[in-house]
Amino acid sequence: MKRPRSIRARDTVIAAVVSVLVLGALAVAVDLIVRDVVTSQMLSQTQLAGRRVSGAVRDGTLRTPIPADADGIMLQVVGPDGRVRNANRAAWGRPPVSDLRPTAEQRIHDYVECGRPGYPRCMLVEAIRATTAPDSVVVYAAAPMPVMLTSGLLEALLGTIVLLLSAAVAYVTWRMVGRTLRPVEEIRTQLSEITASDLSRRVPEPPGEDEIAQLARTANETLRRLEHAVARQRQFASDASHELRTPIAALRANLEDAAMHPDDTDLEEVVRAALRDTDRLESIITDLLLLARIGTGGAAAQERIDFTDLVTAELARRNPPVCLRTDLHPGIEVRGVRMQLVRLLHNLLDNAERYAETFIEVRLARDPAAPDPHLVLTVTDDGVGIPEPDRERVFERFTRLDTARSRSAGGTGLGLAIARDIATAHNGTLTIEDTPKGARFALRLPLT
Ligand code: ADP
Repeated sequence: MKRPRSIRARDTVIAAVVSVLVLGALAVAVDLIVRDVVTSQMLSQTQLAGRRVSGAVRDGTLRTPIPADADGIMLQVVGPDGRVRNANRAAWGRPPVSDLRPTAEQRIHDYVECGRPGYPRCMLVEAIRATTAPDSVVVYAAAPMPVMLTSGLLEALLGTIVLLLSAAVAYVTWRMVGRTLRPVEEIRTQLSEITASDLSRRVPEPPGEDEIAQLARTANETLRRLEHAVARQRQFASDASHELRTPIAALRANLEDAAMHPDDTDLEEVVRAALRDTDRLESIITDLLLLARIGTGGAAAQERIDFTDLVTAELARRNPPVCLRTDLHPGIEVRGVRMQLVRLLHNLLDNAERYAETFIEVRLARDPAAPDPHLVLTVTDDGVGIPEPDRERVFERFTRLDTARSRSAGGTGLGLAIARDIATAHNGTLTIEDTPKGARFALRLPLT
């Protein structure tokens, strides 16, 4: 049989099959018990009546006709010639109840006799040979079997009950599963209608805490994140094109000007300006590519790194215009992508150098406040600082607080965004902390 594709149909079929099996077994048991109870009760009546008559035959006290006995029991005394010699009213004038003549060895027989001429129904018969003598009469006590048992009516009735109950079980299952799955269907319909261009819609959340309610909530949470990510991507694409457009426009204006007035043009200056703009374009594109790649390599791209050595080497490469104070705890190790961590340091130190007035301070230590072992690296300068309300905004792409200064210094506005993405990709954080003067960036990374 092909398995139904819908959960509703499948559950209904399973419930129906199981109930037919269980109720069927129950019905068979009931059938057997009813048959057993009815026949054993009839048997005890026929036995009693038969024995009483055969006792009277032996004593010679049997009257004609045989006095009435328990309801509906037919009693006959049949001679060896097969002729009915005596009977009670129920069996009077009828042919013998049975032809079976018990032997002298086994004087008593219980059995069911069917299809006897003159007896429309099957009978439960007790045949007793009155004596062991060869010409002994046989006493028959017979009770007609209830129609219920002989015609298959009982089985038909039980079968009908089983089918009706199973149909009821199947119907209830169908309704209940349908009601349970209705929210799922609503969620599915909504989800199928939601496209990348319209992520603002949400699936209906059924009340309560059950699995379906949780599914709906998770779906909505995923949609919310997707919407946020798509909005960010869109914003990023528009910011990126805007950023790229500015140097391209400058380049174009310069070149057009030179083409229109070749005689008034200082070619060398035009080329130099063009190179500056191309450099800018190049660094923006390099940063954008880096941003797109951060966190895509997975754990395989990571290696064990002595972070103290890494910071020391990066500081040694530099020649800051201001006083450099350092306090680096030795032998602090992390797992990470070396090139990215160097880039992160580079961006923080570049900014510090750009803004510091008299000093830069770099400290590296284990973070005493973190519950798991973490390092904390702070880069502090005594420049203009970053006002409290801007401390999250500066990590966004293309944010520049001090446009003239950072652009003239070749900043793409992506440095801190890249630095934070790298920190996040290494399961760490990058934040701005309070300091009496200037700015303090704090990087926290889990230790190996
Ligand atoms: P940019 O390429 O412009 O330096 P960043 O993402 O590195 O871009 O920095 C974003 C902005 O954050 C900068 O334009 C500047 O306004 C501010 N900023 C970054 N570092 C510092 C600092 N050490 N002191 C003051 N302002 C800073």
